[in-house]
This record gives sequence, C-alpha cells and structure tokens, in this order.
Amino acid sequence: MARIVQKFGGTSVGDVERIKNVARRVKSEIDLGNQVAVVVSAMSGETNRLVGYTGEMGALVDAREYDVVVSSGEQVTSGLLALALQDLGIPARSWMGWQIPIHTDGIHGKARIAEIGTDALSERLNGGEVVVVPGFQGVGPDNRITTLGRGGSDTSAVALAAALKADRCDIYTDVDGVYTCDPRIVTKAKKLDKITYEEMLEMASLGAKVLQTRSVEMGMKHGVRLQVRSSFSEDEGTLVVDEDEIVEKELVSGIAYSKDEAKITLVSVADRPGVAAHIFGPLAEASVNVDMIVQNISEEGRTDVTFTVPNGDLSRAVEVLEKSTEVNYKQLISDPDVVKVSVVGVGMRSHAGVAQNMFQTLADKGINIQVISTSEIKVSVLIAEEYFELALRALHTAYGLDAEEV
Ligand code: ADP
Ligand code: ASP
Ligand code: MG
Repeated sequence: MARIVQKFGGTSVGDVERIKNVARRVKSEIDLGNQVAVVVSAMSGETNRLVGYTGEMGALVDAREYDVVVSSGEQVTSGLLALALQDLGIPARSWMGWQIPIHTDGIHGKARIAEIGTDALSERLNGGEVVVVPGFQGVGPDNRITTLGRGGSDTSAVALAAALKADRCDIYTDVDGVYTCDPRIVTKAKKLDKITYEEMLEMASLGAKVLQTRSVEMGMKHGVRLQVRSSFSEDEGTLVVDEDEIVEKELVSGIAYSKDEAKITLVSVADRPGVAAHIFGPLAEASVNVDMIVQNISEEGRTDVTFTVPNGDLSRAVEVLEKSTEVNYKQLISDPDVVKVSVVGVGMRSHAGVAQNMFQTLADKGINIQVISTSEIKVSVLIAEEYFELALRALHTAYGLDAEEV
C-alpha cells in the first residue's frame, strides 16, 4: 500500500465530464489499495476570470479580498470532485486550506506555505477516505485566506506530499510530461523520461510553467518523488530526480522562454561608485524585481545601463526612475516587446562551447542579442519578441534535441 498525492490542473478539471474522469483516475489508485489525497486547480480560465473581476472594482488596495475572490475557483472543483467520488461509491470529503490547516505567511497574493497540519487528513486517509484539497490556497497569520501565486496548486500538492510523507506526488496536466521545450511552440520537442530537480528548477524559473518554481524547490528540499504526467492518457510521464539518478547527462536538456520581460535602458549615466546602488535601490524599495542587468564600458566617464523587469512592473519602474533625483541620465528607453530565451543543462558545468553554439545559431538567423546572462547550468539571452519562436526552433535543432520524425 502506498500513500499518493495526485494533483489535477485546470484543463484536467475543465468541466463536469473531466471531473468525472479525474474521479475514475483516483478510483483506480484506490482499487490498488492505495491512500489518495487529491489537490485540484480551478477549472481552466476560471482564475483569470476571477482576477478580471477584482480589476473591475477599481484600484486594488486590499489584497486580502483579492485572495477571497481568486481562491474560490478551487473551492468549486474540490467540492465537485468529492461529489463525483461519492457517486462512484468512494468515501471522500473536501478540505479547505483553513480547515486542514495549511498555514502560510501573510503575503497575500503570493504567500508561502509555512506549515501543514496533518493529523486530521492522516486519520481520514488511514480510514480509507479520499481527501480532496483545493490547491492555491492557505490561511495567513491574520486568519484570512491567502493564495500562493499563479500556478500555485503545484506547490500545494508538493507541500502536502512532503507533510503527509507520501510515497509519490503525481502532477496530472494537459501534456504528458516535461518536454525539451514547450511542445505548443516547438512541435519537435521531445518528452524527457527524467529531469534533475536542479534543471527543472531552472526551467521553471526561466518560464516553463509546467511546474511552479516553488513546487520544485519544495520537492528538492524534501525529496518528494515527483512525476509530471497526462490526465488524458496512461503513458508514463517525466520523473523529477536527483542528479545521480541520471546516467547520461545531456549537455543541454531543455530550452525555456519567458515573455514576462520588459527592458529599460538608461542612456549616459555617470560611471562612478554608487550609481548602480542609486538606480536599483529605489526599484527594490518599490518591490520591482530586476532580472538581467548589463552595464557598458565607460566612455568619458559616462555609460549606459540596461536591465529587465517583469512586464507588470514596467510602468512602476519607469515612474520610480523618472522621479529619482539621485540618478542623472540623458534618456530613458523602455521596451516591453522582448523575450528571454534560455538553454539549460547540468552537462554545461563540464563542457565549453554551449554559449557559443547559442550565439552562432541566433546570428545565422539574423537575430540580435540584446542582453546576455549566464549561470553554472544556463545561458539566457534577451531578443525581440517577433523572433522568439524562430529562435526556439533553431536552438532546439542546434542542440540536437529534435524528436526523430515518425
Ligand atoms: P495545469 O493547469 O495543469 O497546471 P499549466 O498550463 O500550468 O497546466 O502547465 C502546462 C503547460 O505548460 C503545457 O500546456 C505547456 O504548454 C506548458 N509548458 C511550457 N514549457 C513546457 C515544457 N518544457 N514541457 C511541458 N510543458 C511545458
Ligand atoms: N488556479 C490557479 C491559477 O490559475 C492555481 C493553479 O491552477 O495552479 O493560477
Ligand atoms: Mg500550472
């Protein structure tokens, strides 16, 4: 007998028929004698709809009420799934975040899970009942509903698996595993049988939304056996594993992209100590997340500084910089139409030439690189949005990742 956490994403619970399909998948684990805790997302599109409503109420000032509204999609699907399971003769009950409880910090809209109480759930699981948990939500120190950031149901599932000491955490989604690149854009992308936590963490944080970044962090920290698979087929999915479980390490295992980038250039700022601190200090105070940064070589004591911020922070960042009296520049140029493309692979640690291959491939397609950043296992470039699909496909071929034609 195993204890399993199954998480079903938005498409998998997208309508009543699909929720009934999920109930059948849960039943097949129960029939094998396993204990099952299920985490569900809201129906696909529902969270966007709810976020839209909050926007229509005027300037968002109370993030606690935002959380009350946007967490409700998961309440609906968890109740419906419990009903569908009961209809199949399986004892089941839904458990809201505050009932479990899933304690989080107080950062409404982007809360982090602090602790999960497991006594009640464990008792029910041991008694043969299925527990159905709405993903994405918890309860804050103020005793109010919190949400975990977009895509947060993945994190609910992995955290629950860690707390319940589950043998497995299966993430059911609308693709049958983690691919070398987003299969919706690169049709030649290949499904990976295994990927390391570290690579998955990079892929997720660089834009591959198949798993929320925090869920991978949590899985890595607690050694949760994590599998990504399809709720619409019986095929094996992708296992997220430790590096020593992968015998043949690929140089590059995946390519990710993020459209959530905007570029700001400050033309001709003084090149002297303290200038960077004066630019980025006020941005940090305004909670603007700065990602890539380049500073050019100084000419006659002046230099250009270019950096990227999330699209949603662009207008705030520009406002902060325009107001600042500490930084003098000739011109501020902003550009929201950029995409960050990244190649990821643990094999990069021991091999040279990965970055050069990327630069040459983009050059051959006439694609200009605007900003570059690297770490031990990734190289990222910023390019114009109009070329990003071309860039992904060309790089996918250049690194030998294309699936063979069938
Ligand atoms: P869910 O609602 O099940 O959580 P998401 O939409 O959040 O599903 O994540 C699944 C989507 O992630 C896929 O439909 C796919 O388009 C996208 N995706 C991006 N990069 C990858 C990748 N490398 N492998 C698989 N899917 C990816
Ligand atoms: N429903 C939430 C969202 O769309 C959480 C999730 O599905 O993971 O972001
Ligand atoms: Mg998701």
